[in-house]
Amino acid sequence: MSDSKRAFVTGITGQDGGHLAELLVGKGYEVFGLIRGQRNARREAFTREFPGVTLLEADLTDHTSLARAIDTARPHEIYNLGAISHVGYSFRNPTLTMEVTGKGVLNLLEAVRSVGLDEARIYQASTSEMFGGLDYNRPGAGYNEDSIFHPRSPYGVAKLYAHWIAKNYRESYDMFVSCGILFNHEGERRGLEFVTRKISDAVARISLGKQDTLVLGDLWPKRDWGYAGDYVEGMWSMLQHDVADDFVLASGETHSIEEFLDHAFARVGIADWAPYVRQDPQFLRPAEVDILLGDPAKAELVLGWKRAVDFKGLVHRMVDHDLALQREI
Ligand code: NDP
Ligand code: GDP
Repeated sequence: MSDSKRAFVTGITGQDGGHLAELLVGKGYEVFGLIRGQRNARREAFTREFPGVTLLEADLTDHTSLARAIDTARPHEIYNLGAISHVGYSFRNPTLTMEVTGKGVLNLLEAVRSVGLDEARIYQASTSEMFGGLDYNRPGAGYNEDSIFHPRSPYGVAKLYAHWIAKNYRESYDMFVSCGILFNHEGERRGLEFVTRKISDAVARISLGKQDTLVLGDLWPKRDWGYAGDYVEGMWSMLQHDVADDFVLASGETHSIEEFLDHAFARVGIADWAPYVRQDPQFLRPAEVDILLGDPAKAELVLGWKRAVDFKGLVHRMVDHDLALQREI
């Protein structure tokens, strides 16, 4: 085993996992990542991008495999990013969501204890979905670490269990477990099932004549959107802080999907996007989160965290990326 700091990342094949792998490799960490399934389609691309990262086979629903992977890596830092992370999917697969996104965290914490690694520092990926959203008619102030939780999806409920079990292990066993309550963060690595990337991909394809229409659900909800590359810096900072704690990472601004569409279509020279966008009930959810707005004051003050990319910059970055990608294909 080398002298460098070791990190173990679950969800390394996801959006944040890619950004975090980049950050940790750049800082000289020896990085281990969890890969699941007997033939994971993302393995090849990941290995090509990060040849120095060691992938260990495990699953958040399988305590034995987690313990084995953690014992192999013997990490100083563990970033638990693995989850079923899509709100819409969680309504269709609520039990699986609880197993992975909720109970998976308990499995991980127990695996850490079972291999005698209680001194490892752990990051738990908590979420603004635990708050449930501000009322459209009475928006009020942004959510902070002391705000009341009221999750409105199986995903949000599972994440709230994960958040509390992480805090419980911090308090009960004196483990260093920090929870980052992150508001939506996006970028070129975002999955196509999320609204921002669905839009940037479609806008690129429409401007190149490869697609006619973009079909969406509700356009009025508002989100506090930031750039994922900025947010993984905050995750890392939480584990360098002297004590384990909870931190909100957010932009402090909220924008509707319509505003995202405005900037995205304008980037390719289309001022009126209405003829290209259609709405379909299949993308509506049984319960919607109206407005998410976060207050990142604590992270800014205590960790010195500050986002670099603003809302318009984020939209442009995603559209530019997808345009370049679509031109290559
Ligand atoms: P992604 O959906 O891009 O990535 C999820 C990761 O979880 C993938 O690597 C996936 O693996 C892995 N995973 C799924 N099921 C399992 C399982 N059973 N065992 C082990 N791993 C599994 O999510 P993001 O990168 O966007 O988010 C990272 C974390 O942050 C998640 O926990 C998410 O809920 C949370 N979060 C995200 C926010 C955002 O805006 N992005 C906001 C707040 C919190 P595979 O590649 O094999 O499918
Ligand atoms: P979320 O905030 O974690 O649920 O992130 P999403 O990107 O999945 O959704 C953000 C918002 O966009 C939610 O209010 C969705 O209801 C809304 N939305 C509207 N149309 C779509 C769509 O076609 N796909 C997705 N994923 N969301 C959509």
